[in-house]
Amino acid sequence: MTPVPLRIAVVGGGIGGLAAALSTARAGHHVTLVERAAQFGEIGAGLQLAPNASQALEELGVLKAVRRTAVAPPRLVMMDALSGDQVTSLDLRSPAYTERFSHPYLVTHRTDLHAALLTACEEHPAITLRTGHTVTHAEQDDSAVHLHFAETTTELRADAVVAADGLHSRLRQALVGDGEPLCSRYVAFRGALPADRMSGRMSQHAASDAVMVWAGPRMHLVQYPVRRGELYNQVAVFESDHYTPDSDAWGTEAELEERFGGTCQAVRDALPLIARDRRWPLFDRLPIDNWVHGRIALLGDAAHPMLQYLAQGACQALEDAVALGGALGRFTDPADAFAAYADQRRGRAARIQTNARRFGEICHLEGMGATLRNQLFASREPEHFDDVSWVWTPSPATLAIT
Ligand code: FAD
Repeated sequence: MTPVPLRIAVVGGGIGGLAAALSTARAGHHVTLVERAAQFGEIGAGLQLAPNASQALEELGVLKAVRRTAVAPPRLVMMDALSGDQVTSLDLRSPAYTERFSHPYLVTHRTDLHAALLTACEEHPAITLRTGHTVTHAEQDDSAVHLHFAETTTELRADAVVAADGLHSRLRQALVGDGEPLCSRYVAFRGALPADRMSGRMSQHAASDAVMVWAGPRMHLVQYPVRRGELYNQVAVFESDHYTPDSDAWGTEAELEERFGGTCQAVRDALPLIARDRRWPLFDRLPIDNWVHGRIALLGDAAHPMLQYLAQGACQALEDAVALGGALGRFTDPADAFAAYADQRRGRAARIQTNARRFGEICHLEGMGATLRNQLFASREPEHFDDVSWVWTPSPATLAIT
């Protein structure tokens, strides 16, 4: 039986919020999505979408649109950033990959993924999109949630609210109260540039469209093509020795140069073309159990902000959205649907959140630790997916949109 349509408000128009709006509307409900920015958008950098994300995008009906511009890389390759030697690789075109995973590994420009989700939301008759609406707080009673905004005194009344307002979620802060996100003392410099500007600066693997991870002591560089190969994405990440909690004067461009100064030729060739216009301090939080507070549920980075080392933050937000839609398609009471959604998702998201930190530590090993890592990884076969398959495989119940 299809539940009676609810009025659901989604706070935040990032990848998580748009995906949640889409899955909720596809489950038969009316959605109003509010975004604080004057225009919807994403930053000018790339995003890796493991097969669990492709599967979620298919469930949401947007995989075809995303594939028009996304690149399906042949391999993920880990290199030693100091020696320039290959550490290990995963063959994404091997029979072992297709036997194990039903969906492709993709890399995309964030704007392209965001645009595909936004178009699908705009085209859905049950979704209303509002920009320039900053939620200040929410009040709830037994029958509804009232959202209040900075820009207007007109409130929005909804049967239930999905808080997809990101890492610094105001709604999470009010409901969970677990303080500020935890800064890892690492920063990222990142951006996509026209691919032809990289000519002569790419290693052999990089030129074949592989996803490259150059792992080094307390730093790494990630590279891959996006937008049909027309753009090339680079992300340089390092730990700062000058972290101060209340200032932006750490993790500077000068530190970037210094930290990457001793790397191999291929990394140093790429360094001048890494975007410098903005730095991103990297945060996460410890996992929590209480994703649901009455008629308000957390989703995406608002629920489980994680370090990016497993490239799963957005992938998990997409899995959240599919699970949410599935639950809202099964239960009449939003509280029951939210409880089922959180039960399905929080264990897996927490495990990935925790393991993202661990994988970062492995990437950033130095000295003997790095030598042992390289020796251990050297015995891996490129067709061996046992260690990543739990990350790349959504739990079966995630596929439960009705
Ligand atoms: P956000 O993208 O933060 O969206 C939140 C939205 O809410 C924003 O639009 C914001 O304007 C809006 N908002 C905030 N407050 C309010 C308010 N009060 N009222 C109204 N609107 C509000 N993930 C991957 O899966 N693969 C990767 O390869 C990957 N690489 C990464 C690399 C780096 C360097 C970093 C930092 C992250 C990476 N991630 C990756 C993680 C990924 O970017 C995030 O997990 C994902 O974008 C989170 O989406 P979200 O919609 O939950 O939050």
